[in-house]
Formats: sequence, C-alpha cells, structure tokens
Amino acid sequence: MEIVLSRIREVIILGSGPAGYTAALYTARANLQPLLFTGLQPGGQLTITTDVENYPGFPNGIQGPELMDVMRAQVTRFGAELLDQEVDKVDFSRRPFTVWAEGQSYQAKSVIVATGASALLLGLPSEQKFMGSGVSACATCDGFFYKGKRVAVVGGGDTAMEEATFLTRFCPEVVVVHRRDSLRASKIMQERAFANPAIRFVWNSEVVEVMGEENRKVTGVKLRDTVTGAESDLAVDGLFVAIGHKPNTEFLAGQLPLDAKGYVRIQPGTSRTPIEGVFAAGDVHDAVYRQAVTAAGSGCMAAMDCERWLEAQAHEPAKHEARAVSGAERVPQAGHPGAGAPTRTAGTH
Ligand code: FAD
Ligand code: NAP
Repeated sequence: MEIVLSRIREVIILGSGPAGYTAALYTARANLQPLLFTGLQPGGQLTITTDVENYPGFPNGIQGPELMDVMRAQVTRFGAELLDQEVDKVDFSRRPFTVWAEGQSYQAKSVIVATGASALLLGLPSEQKFMGSGVSACATCDGFFYKGKRVAVVGGGDTAMEEATFLTRFCPEVVVVHRRDSLRASKIMQERAFANPAIRFVWNSEVVEVMGEENRKVTGVKLRDTVTGAESDLAVDGLFVAIGHKPNTEFLAGQLPLDAKGYVRIQPGTSRTPIEGVFAAGDVHDAVYRQAVTAAGSGCMAAMDCERWLEAQAHEPAKHEARAVSGAERVPQAGHPGAGAPTRTAGTH
C-alpha cells in the first residue's frame, strides 16, 4: 500500500501490540483511515511468548505470535495503513501533530500512543533461549503452566513479592533469588512474602545462567554469590524475572507529560492525555494490569475518545487550523529525563 506523505491524517497510531491494533481496528471501522507505526517489534510483547490462555475467544489457547498475526490481518482488512517503522521523534506542541520515522515526517490531527512497556530482563543468552518455555516475565500470564512445580523468582521489589506470592497458588515451593540481603519491596509486601511458608529466599545471589534441556525445558539456574563469588546450582522448573518494567516513552520526553517512572499520564477513566488530541492506550500508561485484554480494551477506549474528539473538532473550525498547544496542556513531567525541551517543530527531519 502506497503511503501518501503530504496528507494530514485524522489519526496516527504508534505501536502494534493489542492496544495499537485495537485502536486501529476501531478507528479504521470509524472511517478515520489510521496510519499505524508498528515499531521494531511488530505485534508487541506477545510475540515473545508461546501459549496465551487468558485472551477471551480462544478456548484452547493460542500462540502469542499467532494471536498478533490475526489481529494484524483484522486491522488491514478494514483499510488501516501499517508502516513497519519506529517513530523516533514527535512534535505535540502544535496541531496538526507531527511524528518522524526513518527521516520522514507525517502529520495528523490526533495521535494514539500505544508503544507499550518492556519487562526488564537479566540479559543472559540462556534467558533468551528459554523465554516463553521455562522463563517468563509474567506470573499472571504463565503461573498456571507451573502447577505442582518448583520455580524461582528474581528480584527484591514489590513486583517480585507479588509474583512470588501469586505463584504459591500453583507451586509448592517458590524460591526468591535476590542480589542483596534486604528487600526493596514495601513493608506490607515483604511481610506477606515472609509469612508465606511456600516462599524461600536465597540472598546475595544473582542468576548467571538458565540451564535446561535441548527440548527447551528448564531444569535449573546457576547462581553466583554476590559476596563470595561462589557458584551453585538451584534445581527449578521455571524462572520468573521480576526486576521491573520500562515504558517505551523515551522518544516522548518533553512532548507529553510522563510520570516519574516514564508512564504516560492520562485522565483517570479515559484515554485522554493532558495534550488535547493525544490519547494513550495499553501498557504505556498502565503499570498495574499489564494484560493483553486490558491493553486491547484501552485501545478501544482510545479510538472512541479520539473519534469523538475529532467529531467535536469538526464543529469548531477555528480549532482545526494549525495552532500552538496552550501552556495549560503542556504539563511538565516530574523527574523524567529529557523533561522540558520540545524536540522540533513540524517540517523536515
Ligand atoms: P506492547 O505489546 O508492549 O506493544 C508495544 C508496541 O509498540 C510494539 O509493537 C512496539 O514495536 C511498538 N513501539 C514501541 N516503541 C515504538 C515507537 N517509538 N514507535 C512506534 N512503535 C513503537 N498478557 C496476557 O494477557 N496474557 C499472557 O499470556 C501474556 N503473556 C506474556 C508473556 C510475556 C513474555 C510478556 C513479556 C508479556 C505477556 N503478557 C501477557 C502481557 C502482554 O503482552 C502485554 O500486557 C500487552 O502486550 C501490552 O500491549 P500493548 O499494546 O500496550 O503494548
Ligand atoms: P523495583 O522497585 O525497581 O525493584 C526491582 C528489583 O529488582 C530490585 O529489588 C532490584 O534490586 C532488582 N533488580 C533490578 N535489576 C536487577 C538485575 N539486573 N538483576 C537482579 N536483580 C535486579 O521494581 P518493581 O518491583 O517492578 O516495582 C516498581 C514500582 O511498582 C514500585 O514503585 C513498586 O512499589 C510498584 N509496585 C507496587 C505493587 C503493589 O503495591 N501491589 C506491585 C508491583 C509494583 P535492588 O533492590 O538491589 O536494586
């Protein structure tokens, strides 16, 4: 499909996870002819996992990559235009908004940001090898597959305590491996984990290798003592990495209000950001639920908010013309690197 560059679009969508594809589906069916940038991970986070058993509509489950392929096919059927490119810069300081990808600029009256978040990982080659088949970054998603098994959780924050506690619903023993001798987690989460007889702690230890069989079954992890350097093996059937998440918003710094952790701020109960005409959906604003179905649901909300906003704009012609976004809409973000200076105005790269 040929992309007409000069056209000012009704809506540009950033991201091709469940949130971005759902936003594209709804805006395409509302005849807004969305242009969607897939980013460097077409299909988003679910493309790095195997079985997805909690997305409604698939009684026997579905493979993550397959689910994202069918979502893509569904949005293209309704005429959404897709570009397999990453947006590296935006200008939300004036309308129409401008986004840049691969040196080219694109303009739209509205933008839906659905660039997701990335689970932080340990960075081990063996972690990559077993990702989705023994290594996971989501206990809610994968805990069920470890019924009756022994698993390890890496991390010492609230996420690790929450994941470990959740996993004890299925697993007789959950071993929390933490690189220091005290937890970062809040007191209440610590106390809950300490009081749980199925949780055991291994202190001052880091995972240096995930061990397993060629048929992609994890059999254990190699640990290194962070004080003595001594190495030991821990036999487990699965490893849950719970060392935090990072929203994919670096390219938005200075253009869209972000919270201290870099998540996009929205008006509660809506998808509206403080910049009128810019909407957000999915994990990019949601540090709590982080599920495919919640991301898809918020993609639908963003599309409907966007469609209604565009409709209202159409009845206020003055607002339609290029205008600088008012100071009131440009709420500065707290403590996020790059806060302040907008990048550039519309034009060439
Ligand atoms: P993402 O899926 O994170 O997609 C973000 C998209 O934005 C990507 O396409 C990326 O390429 C794009 N992007 C990023 N930056 C840019 C940019 N600058 N320009 C353009 N595009 C950009 N949830 C479940 O409900 N069930 C499960 O079984 C499940 N299993 C999981 C297993 C794993 C290993 C992981 C990591 C997550 C799992 N999740 C699961 C969580 C689920 O994947 C996420 O909640 C969901 O994918 C979030 O959707 P999203 O659309 O917000 O963002
Ligand atoms: P976090 O607070 O940043 O904790 C990350 C943990 O992982 C830390 O213990 C850290 O160790 C460890 N870690 C980081 N990198 C590591 C590495 N490469 N190898 C080994 N360990 C590593 O992240 P989080 O737990 O995801 O929490 C994020 C925010 O969400 C927090 O504000 C938290 O309170 C909140 N949250 C709240 C709840 C809840 O209340 N229910 C649930 C989840 C999250 P160090 O301690 O040594 O740095």
